[in-house]
Amino acid sequence: MINLSGIVKTYPGSSGPVHALKGVSIQVNSGEIFGVIGKSGAGKSTLIRCINMLEKPTVGTVVVDGQELSSMSERDLRDARKKIGMIFQHFNLLSSRTVYDNIAFPLELVGWDKKKIEDAVLPLLDLVGLSDKRNQYPSQLSGGQKQRVGIARALASRPKVLLCDEATSALDPQTTQSILELLKDINKRLGLTIVLITHEMQVIKQICDRVAVIENGVIIEQGPVIDLFAKP
Ligand code: ADP
Ligand code: ADP
Repeated sequence: MINLSGIVKTYPGSSGPVHALKGVSIQVNSGEIFGVIGKSGAGKSTLIRCINMLEKPTVGTVVVDGQELSSMSERDLRDARKKIGMIFQHFNLLSSRTVYDNIAFPLELVGWDKKKIEDAVLPLLDLVGLSDKRNQYPSQLSGGQKQRVGIARALASRPKVLLCDEATSALDPQTTQSILELLKDINKRLGLTIVLITHEMQVIKQICDRVAVIENGVIIEQGPVIDLFAKP
């Protein structure tokens, strides 16, 4: 489903170039949950952002669902990105919009009419367990509820891939559990391929099928979680 090959990413940086990724290759199979673990500064965020080309690799190819994103025009990339949803550590919700309107937002951007948007958003509210919060604003929600909105918004464009950028790092352990369970449920029910980055081993052990360990911009190990790490 995802094939990153020979990815090099070098940032200009104020005190000379920063080599964030030094030739990284990963392959993610359709329907699996793939984790990337590493310390702060290892290159995780750069790597996951290369999958949807939010960061453009300096060298290397990015193929998602058979399409080579790394050679596309911006215009084609906009379309291709609809297959790739993303959720964030700090949720990135629009504070002036309700729960419903946050989820509807990406669909408004692509010009869907009101009725079609409602038909998409109501089942998503149900899926993430927030039907009764549809008219609340983000400031009225807990961290876990905000991330549920983030997940529903990411799913609105019916992506095949969901990218999770430290999605549980701002949450307490109990809330982390419930979000991980929701992600697992979505993975199973929708057959969605999930890629997540984390610095927490527990997240990897709990829901990932395969894992890559990144250190200093290099993947030092990659394989099934049960082979690389003992069960908890
Ligand atoms: P992680 O997500 O594992 O913490 P990052 O991908 O954020 O790692 O960062 C990898 C390296 O690239 C770090 O040294 C970081 O300081 C650097 N870096 C990240 N983004 C930028 C940027 N926009 N400009 C310059 N350096 C950056
Ligand atoms: P722009 O290119 O004008 O910045 P985008 O469509 O890239 O607009 O994104 C606008 C907002 O909508 C962002 O906050 C982004 O998180 C959200 N968004 C857009 N598309 C998706 C998607 N497929 N999944 C999740 N969120 C999305």
